[in-house]
Amino acid sequence: MTPTARLDELRVDGDRLARELDALAGYSDAPAPAVTRVVFGETDRKAREYVTSLCAEASLAVRTDAVGNTFARWRGTSPELPAVATGSHIDAIPNAGRFDGTVGVLGGLEAIRALQRAGCTPRRSIELILFTSEEPTRFGIGCLGSRLLSGALDPAVDDTLRDADQGTLKERRTAAGFSGALARVRLSEGSYSAFVELHIEQGPLLEAGRLDIGVVTAIAAPASLRIHIEGQGGHAGAVLMPDRHDAFLAGAEIALAVEAAARASGSIDTVGTVGVCNVFPGAVNSVPSRTTLEVDVRDIERTRRDDVLSTILGASQAIAARRAVTVRVDTLNADPPATCAPEIVDAVMSACQAHAVSHRTMISRAYHDSLFMARVAPTGMIFIPCRGGVSHRPDEYASPEAIANGTAVLARTLATLAST
Ligand SMILES: [Zn+2]
Repeated sequence: MTPTARLDELRVDGDRLARELDALAGYSDAPAPAVTRVVFGETDRKAREYVTSLCAEASLAVRTDAVGNTFARWRGTSPELPAVATGSHIDAIPNAGRFDGTVGVLGGLEAIRALQRAGCTPRRSIELILFTSEEPTRFGIGCLGSRLLSGALDPAVDDTLRDADQGTLKERRTAAGFSGALARVRLSEGSYSAFVELHIEQGPLLEAGRLDIGVVTAIAAPASLRIHIEGQGGHAGAVLMPDRHDAFLAGAEIALAVEAAARASGSIDTVGTVGVCNVFPGAVNSVPSRTTLEVDVRDIERTRRDDVLSTILGASQAIAARRAVTVRVDTLNADPPATCAPEIVDAVMSACQAHAVSHRTMISRAYHDSLFMARVAPTGMIFIPCRGGVSHRPDEYASPEAIANGTAVLARTLATLAST
């Protein structure tokens, strides 16, 4: 980067960024203030088009890969060096808010524009990444794009991952305009010298401490299970209670076992959730013959989390045996936690000091694309406060000032990382 003195001229256009976040929130399948934007839907396509047009306006070179990850590059003076990357996601779970992910995408873009306006020229190229399907809504697996980029997911999922309408990943991505071999999504060694993601905290600590910035040092390890329970269906009037093998009731007991296992871990950092329960045939006068649960367990310590998973497995088998139903548990993912790179943590801290904002180090309990980018590049995250720690709800809120602060810290961090 050219003289750091230029960074004194760094001005984030918070009003413009707020307007763009507003415009992006308008691409939604749910009425405002809720946002629903599921990957590869028509709304997702329009939202991507909007973001891409803003990137082109900023003279960034835009390309996409086979799964729809989108890269917008600001060319540095030494373009042959590994680039510095930033970015996040724009997909939103049903009935969510407008800041999760989007702050890291549009904030990342504004950070680049602010550096451009300040007259900086980076040595390394700086690249904004819009990751495909950070949310698991459509295919049941989160961080689809970044998993494939990092090689954490076998490209064979192209034909095996299906959405609720039985469309495969390959069919859906092709229909959305992203073709080519999924195997080619994986990043080659040394593509990036650093990756930094700006994100809302999705927790209460920064707001409670009246702090501007969270400097993330580690990302918690999530795991998810899909539990298939097969019992015996029948007429709700005709099958007598002692003769039943109700798949839903076994599922209900398993759900309670998930809660008990998480609570018994001995740590407040262990959390367990059953967020999906599908009952078949789903008729009021029919005994459920099949039930599927989706279970999410997280912790910042891998062994403790894995102990909870085995407790859940054991309990599921015991419940199945007692109720004479069959249970099959698929582990959808059980990822290792990520540690942020010390040099990036330092760069973010220095940026906070230079921008004169208050900060603390913290751990990310939520799951982010950074978890997978950490496998292929030194990675860090910058958190900003959000009201009440609320996220994945329509009332999710981060103030324009908080977003502008995070963006300014990101811009300085990128400037530092791109200058070495
Ligand atoms: Zn997110």
